[in-house]
Amino acid sequence: MDFDLLPLPYPQPALEPYLGRETLHYHYDKHHAGYLAKLRELVGSTAVALHTLEEIVLLSDDDVFENAAQVWNHDFYWRSMRPGGGGEPPEPLRGAIERAFGGIDAFHERFVERGTQLFGSGWVWLVAGRDRLRIETTADADLPLTQDRVPLLCADVWEHAYYLDYRNDRRRYLATFLEHLVDWESAASRWKTVGADEPMAVRMERLRTGESR
Ligand code: MN
Repeated sequence: MDFDLLPLPYPQPALEPYLGRETLHYHYDKHHAGYLAKLRELVGSTAVALHTLEEIVLLSDDDVFENAAQVWNHDFYWRSMRPGGGGEPPEPLRGAIERAFGGIDAFHERFVERGTQLFGSGWVWLVAGRDRLRIETTADADLPLTQDRVPLLCADVWEHAYYLDYRNDRRRYLATFLEHLVDWESAASRWKTVGADEPMAVRMERLRTGESR
């Protein structure tokens, strides 16, 4: 079950002008790959060969968890964006967002606000709870992981995600993420897995890779 980074789903310059190729290069080839290299160093190649990434995320703690979760989060982040993204979510996700937040614009405002206010490094997520959608932030490597919280999309708000393109302006990075980068189709297809009756590690793997049931 040996795993590697999932390949980027688009070429590194494909998100320009909103995220530059230099950002993608450092973020994917250095930061993301660095977490996997560190994970292999911590647990050894045998453990990586025997378990799925999701099993390691679910079963570990401390620095093993942090590095495994960062590999997972980045795979998920790259698949939360696409070239020519943004726009409006398809139905029925659009209606669910309107019900939960009072409108698409209100969702944008909340998402940007929550991500901007998160102190330090972390992630901002749109998650599907059992009965409604929510915005969540997590610190450092943490991720929404229980049965009742299925992530639909995420934005990385570690400084390395935006500093080359936006300097310290995290707010503008997050607004641009929603306007021009977010992949609503992939969020909508993840939404279909809510309530799926299967082990968490299997569901998480499907959410990360975008494989359908
Ligand atoms: Mn990152």
